[in-house]
Amino acid sequence: MSRFQQARFLISAAAPAQFPADSGAEVAFAGRSNAGKSSAINAIVKRHGLARTSKLPGRTRLLNFFELAPGKRLVDLPGYGYASAPESERLTWQPLIDALKARQCLRGLFLIVDVRRGVTAGDAGLIEWLDPAQRVHVLLSKADKLGRGEGLRTLRAASAQLEGRATVQLFSALNGAGVPEAQDVLVGWLA
Ligand code: GDP
Repeated sequence: MSRFQQARFLISAAAPAQFPADSGAEVAFAGRSNAGKSSAINAIVKRHGLARTSKLPGRTRLLNFFELAPGKRLVDLPGYGYASAPESERLTWQPLIDALKARQCLRGLFLIVDVRRGVTAGDAGLIEWLDPAQRVHVLLSKADKLGRGEGLRTLRAASAQLEGRATVQLFSALNGAGVPEAQDVLVGWLA
């Protein structure tokens, strides 16, 4: 059964003025485009198609807010890493994520990383940009693509690379591996 039965889409914000009030608790989800972020959100929240909203044309560069329970929100950040993303787009959403970072209600960041790609310079840059006091949890997504041994080796390598700055786990939206663990972290942060 879903632990987030009341989950619902709130708003696609194009400007900080449209953000929900800075109260309660909020957790941000970020990752390179195609890392599996939308699939991860849907698997964790178990409301199929919830994060599809973020993929509607015109919404991919916006911050999409979902309410998981009263006063507890998830924020879906625009995917990054497309070399083709024009500078003008980046200039649109940089103020948005800067404003998000400044929110009192922000409890941490879930970073979705394709297990076959590992933590990239873009991922590391995002972690560095974040307040050092802010928690980061990395989901090594699409873990079903690797065998068990290889998955564990990748997990150890990512853990070493993150040097204690973030917690990290294997995750698969496809076969559900790591979903309860990710839910526990999210619920704990939002508590
Ligand atoms: P986003 O751009 O980061 O939101 O990524 P999506 O969730 O849209 O996923 C990108 C692609 O990866 C899609 O083709 C998904 O079907 C695939 N994908 C996502 N999660 C998994 C997973 O756990 N396992 C596998 N094998 N494929 C996945």
